[in-house]
Amino acid sequence: MLEDIEKVLFHESTILSRLDELAHEITTDYRGKDLTVIAILNGSFVFMADLLRRVPLPLQVECLSVSSYHGTRTTGQVNFRQTTLADFRNRHVLLLDDILDSGHTLHAIGTRLSEGGALSLRTCVLLRKRVEREREVDADYVAFDIPNEFVVGYGLDYNENYRNLPFVGVLNEAAIQRGAKPA
Ligand code: 5GP
Ligand code: MG
Repeated sequence: MLEDIEKVLFHESTILSRLDELAHEITTDYRGKDLTVIAILNGSFVFMADLLRRVPLPLQVECLSVSSYHGTRTTGQVNFRQTTLADFRNRHVLLLDDILDSGHTLHAIGTRLSEGGALSLRTCVLLRKRVEREREVDADYVAFDIPNEFVVGYGLDYNENYRNLPFVGVLNEAAIQRGAKPA
């Protein structure tokens, strides 16, 4: 699996120290507020676990499962794998995602959640790609900005593989060509 990585962008220790800063900001902003964190699965499961353990506030966690990617290309279409969400009326909602790329995912979910009666809705992403968005959307909290490369690890997949790598890295061309199975 490691042979498939062209280069490491962020080692685990780099990610965790950045999450300390981000968690501190979130803790300051939401102190004394009723907070529901909604994590977008599968990509944000590692990010969610590491980030939320650094936020010493009472909060509730919900997970939302969507998909929009096939291989290394966005489909532009966001599929919701579930239809019901817990009630977050009169609560502040913080949406967590692994990466902001074209913007389709956060736009679709934001639109859907905005009908739910939340007191506020903000978004937090681990990675934000420097690309022109196809939807007008940005994130309120960003751990790292990255160039327009396809990355895997720390929750992010290529055809469902590589999510368990502890770092964020760029996949090499051979692995992309080979498709689903890691070496
Ligand atoms: P968007 O809808 O903003 O184009 O993309 C958001 C979703 O596409 C992310 O939640 C993630 O699942 C997937 N995605 C976008 N860029 C990448 C990437 O570089 N690597 C991986 N593994 N997934 C990506
Ligand atoms: Mg994905």
